[in-house]
Amino acid sequence: MNQNERICHEKTPQGIQAALDALVMRKPALSSLVYSFGPVLVAKAELTARLSENEVKETDLPEFDWVRFSKGVQLFAITGLMDFHKEFKQAAQMILPPIAAAFPGIRSDIESIKNNIADNNLDAGECVQAVMANSTRIIKALAARANTTPDILRFALAQISGPFKEIQARAFAPLVEEHKWLHGHCPMCGSFPVAAGLIGEEGDRWLQCSVCAHEWRFNRHICPRCENNDQTLLECFSDQDSPVNDGEQVNVCKLCNTYLLTIDLRRHIDPVNMDVAVMGMNGLDLQAREKGYSPQAETLWHLMER
Ligand SMILES: [Zn+2]
Ligand SMILES: [Zn+2]
Repeated sequence: MNQNERICHEKTPQGIQAALDALVMRKPALSSLVYSFGPVLVAKAELTARLSENEVKETDLPEFDWVRFSKGVQLFAITGLMDFHKEFKQAAQMILPPIAAAFPGIRSDIESIKNNIADNNLDAGECVQAVMANSTRIIKALAARANTTPDILRFALAQISGPFKEIQARAFAPLVEEHKWLHGHCPMCGSFPVAAGLIGEEGDRWLQCSVCAHEWRFNRHICPRCENNDQTLLECFSDQDSPVNDGEQVNVCKLCNTYLLTIDLRRHIDPVNMDVAVMGMNGLDLQAREKGYSPQAETLWHLMER
């Protein structure tokens, strides 16, 4: 595939830090958001930079599974998640400190989870098992052991496992290339998109997954969330306060009442980090929510406001 037909990403920790610094210069009103959540983005990028796609076992799927895939069953539901228990402890020590700092309301819980993982009171194998099986029973038992609630532990485990899903999605990306995926949820992990990018001469729309960062092309005139294609129910607006050159807009669907932030990447020459771009669109995000729409996928800072 031609490089110009995909989003040109900035995914290095240094590049993300530079993008965050540039965002603070460009929109000083967003500095507290950037200072709170920027370190989480950088820590995740540092972790993915350390992990290797070669660790992911190669998978050869029978035709039957590709039929299920074409019907909308995401790949990870077919293959299962990679077992990341060997790297789990180190990942927790990298990811949880910036999470604790970003969420003062649950800081002591997150620190307790981090310490329990560090001294093996929360066993890496059991934690990974809880994530892989999405088991409420194991999560409840582990949460009690770490003196926290199942919801907070589930959140912490989701944050730690995100970069592993991203690596698995990168390793599996060539696998899905030749298979059609016409759905609005992620072909890898099944989550909804955090943002969309428009690229190429025709302005093709690529969606970026909110969990594993995989990207897939999706019809511009269909709502990813509910797959509604009634154009009278789909609208798009941009931020009056933002320069038109930013190419930032938000698409809303009046059927499922959701919105999706969209960035016209044809206006950008340099590689873009979509997570930082989403952070920079906070004004539009607020406007969409004030109009009564919900995000197709929640960002970390949405959770903060609960
Ligand atoms: Zn995904
Ligand atoms: Zn919809």
